[in-house]
Amino acid sequence: MAKTVEKLLKKENLDKLITSVKADGGRWIAPVTDARQVVFKAVTKHEDMASDYILARNSYKEVLFPQTEVIAEYSVSREGSEMHGVELTPAETVVFGARPCEAASLKSLRSVFTWDFIDEFYTKREEKLIIITVACTKADEACFCTTVNISPESTEGSDIYLKETVSGDYLAHGATEKGKAFMAKHGNTFENAPKDAQTKKLVMPEEINGIDLDKISERLKKTGHYEDHVWAELTRKCIGCGACTYVCPTCHCFDITDEGTAIEGERRKNWDSCQFDAFTLHASGHNPRDTQFKRWRNRFMCKMHIYPEKFNSTGCVGCGRCVRVCPVRLDITEVMEALSK
Ligand code: SF4
Ligand code: SF4
Repeated sequence: MAKTVEKLLKKENLDKLITSVKADGGRWIAPVTDARQVVFKAVTKHEDMASDYILARNSYKEVLFPQTEVIAEYSVSREGSEMHGVELTPAETVVFGARPCEAASLKSLRSVFTWDFIDEFYTKREEKLIIITVACTKADEACFCTTVNISPESTEGSDIYLKETVSGDYLAHGATEKGKAFMAKHGNTFENAPKDAQTKKLVMPEEINGIDLDKISERLKKTGHYEDHVWAELTRKCIGCGACTYVCPTCHCFDITDEGTAIEGERRKNWDSCQFDAFTLHASGHNPRDTQFKRWRNRFMCKMHIYPEKFNSTGCVGCGRCVRVCPVRLDITEVMEALSK
């Protein structure tokens, strides 16, 4: 995709930019190396940010949808019970160094959290979010964005899209009005780009020939596929740990629990996973997804059928995180290939 390069962001100016965001009360989140893993965390200076990475192990979705958060507080007394919702006033949050694939997941998350109910815990955070992606100059065998129609050149979801220059700086393209406004506000750090600026070569993961998204979609439209033996065969090794759902940028399931005493406590919104056996357990004891392959089938259906049909968005952006973290190496692309046949 052709892009108009607008500005040059010099690496030496990153600290100035971070300081400026923080001076306004904002946060700067970026991939950092922590315990030998690259993860998104808050940083205060650019030296703390990882530079040699393919993708952070976790997704930046935690910024919009924390693993756990208090949404209300309750108390019970002789006079009655009271519950107060938590009023959220999020700070501006810059996510720097996300990849184009995960930025593309934003549409799916937004669709879920604004569908039949506007979840202000999500929307208020998204309003304050600036996503600055850095296009990929590296990929590994788990990356498959091009197979799901995304690429290192995709700008969907990015507010500012960066390409690294051969000299180690960035060419910056304001991809949304929010991104352009951010660049204008911090105009002293975004300079006019030289016409001859050379960017590093982007790396395109090879498309997996055996995957046909249209065929998968057609097959999943008919409930007859529930009986396909491929589900049990391909997902037999899944141990239901839920790691794939926790790292996935589009997985969004949560549970609400009350924690405290009979007198007072807090109501929390916690990540949940459709891979856990209790996820669909009814109070009666009946569980419609009583075996692991049914739970895995549900996850696949959610990404490859429900998101595209209901929200016109892709539930899988091909980031490969679920493949990298799965303890039994259950590879979603193998299931996609099998269902394409
Ligand atoms: S990470 Fe692997 S083993 Fe764990 S729930 Fe996901 S597919 Fe199953
Ligand atoms: S399903 Fe796997 S590859 Fe697809 S977006 Fe989620 S973590 Fe990435």
